[in-house]
Amino acid sequence: MPNGKPAGIRCIQLSDENNCMIFGHPERPAFCAGLQPNEEMCGNEAIGQSREYAMAWLSELEELTRPL
Ligand code: SF4
Repeated sequence: MPNGKPAGIRCIQLSDENNCMIFGHPERPAFCAGLQPNEEMCGNEAIGQSREYAMAWLSELEELTRPL
């Protein structure tokens, strides 16, 4: 996305399966490559946190960082 991905807008590089279609390619933004997954973001299956947990966490982050 030429001017970056606005908060709350689906990235045009996401496939229907929610995979990054430019993963490993030089055009992938440095910010994306630098984002390191961690338990707070991804959840912990051992305590019952699932993909839904991660999606809710990321959605909240998108909402909190949305420009006013
Ligand atoms: S990693 Fe970056 S470029 Fe890839 S889908 Fe996610 S936001 Fe888009």
